[in-house]
Amino acid sequence: MADKRILNKLVDLQGTNFEILDVEVNKDEIVWKISHRNKAYYICPNCHKKHKYAYDKAWIIIKDIPLGKKKMIWHVNRARIICKCHYRPLVEFLPFRSIHHRLTQRLVNLIEELLCTKMFTVADVARLFEIDYGIVYKIDHELLWRLIDSINIPHPENISVDEKSFRKGHKYVTVVTDIDSKKVIWVSEGRRKESLDEFFKIIGPEGCKKIKTVAKDLHEPYALSINEYIPHAKIIADKFHVIKKLNETLNECRKELERQSDLNVTRSKKRSEQLQWVLRYKNKKLHPGQLETLNVLQKVNERLYKAYLLKEYFYNIFDFKPSEINEAKDFLLLWIKKAKKYGFIALQEFVKFLERHFRIILNIILFQRTTAVSEGINRKISVIKCMAYGYRNIQYFMLKIMQRCGILGDRDVPISNA
Ligand SMILES: [Zn+2]
Repeated sequence: MADKRILNKLVDLQGTNFEILDVEVNKDEIVWKISHRNKAYYICPNCHKKHKYAYDKAWIIIKDIPLGKKKMIWHVNRARIICKCHYRPLVEFLPFRSIHHRLTQRLVNLIEELLCTKMFTVADVARLFEIDYGIVYKIDHELLWRLIDSINIPHPENISVDEKSFRKGHKYVTVVTDIDSKKVIWVSEGRRKESLDEFFKIIGPEGCKKIKTVAKDLHEPYALSINEYIPHAKIIADKFHVIKKLNETLNECRKELERQSDLNVTRSKKRSEQLQWVLRYKNKKLHPGQLETLNVLQKVNERLYKAYLLKEYFYNIFDFKPSEINEAKDFLLLWIKKAKKYGFIALQEFVKFLERHFRIILNIILFQRTTAVSEGINRKISVIKCMAYGYRNIQYFMLKIMQRCGILGDRDVPISNA
């Protein structure tokens, strides 16, 4: 009998109405036969009342944590009962089995803990335990839902707001980041005013008051929300987006010239591609081959080359210190004046963009905001997007951003059977 107690302990059956009947050690698995103790009783899963009689019994198979290289398979003799609380026979409550999956609860707990370390992906865990990917995905999704209920959204002082596309731009989510902790603190569906309103409503008027600065891309609906909820906060343009826009502008200039077939240099497709990259990068980041493309460009197309230099010149704005804000302002005005002399339509669009957001772009200098946080989070979100399976579900995508880049699941795992 003593042996059985040790075995029961090994599979955590102490204190339950179950015990081990038999065990079979095979080449790559251990099969445990588990059935009710002698004085059997059956617990209603609904009202937890104990029942003396079973309606019927059947053997089910559930999977447990592997032992060394061997799989642990449980054959459990489970009963169904008739209880007054329900009109149909019910499967009795099995304290060791996960409610939703054919796995032991302790295996599910272990999977959740591994997922919470943020070092294991769903695919990793599925491989590790040889469990179907879809099941681990479901466990992860359930876990994230529980986590989101248990966290308190912090009240940050400096935030950035950003839109992220999902499923090739068909859908969007709004991402709110705490600049100081460098973590995503909220994600909501869509990119409308209401999407950002949601965050301000959650932190409430007290939380809103605490916000001092907000960095945002230049998506208009967000401005409406910011005006309504945090009119006192200083708005800063997102440097990352300004740079991105400028790079796109230059590429548009190239296309304009190509359309006018004024750009001899891009006769060959390869050259055209090279040029695209050259125009996008800062001068010091170019390797010798690309520099050569640039030299060719200088010879064959003066206009585009000048536009490129103008772009390079723009970056100097970010070197000004807060104490030199007036100089920065003069610099920006001068840059706009120069750019207006260039014929490109795209460049004129960019000038209009600068004029429209003049003050908040200067705030980048005043508040010395770098793009590091934005870029880091963007990179992580791209990785999340690449792990495409399961992200057809937008809720899961949002939760995953909150977990991988944010405050979700930093420490504790809430127990699912509570
Ligand atoms: Zn019942």
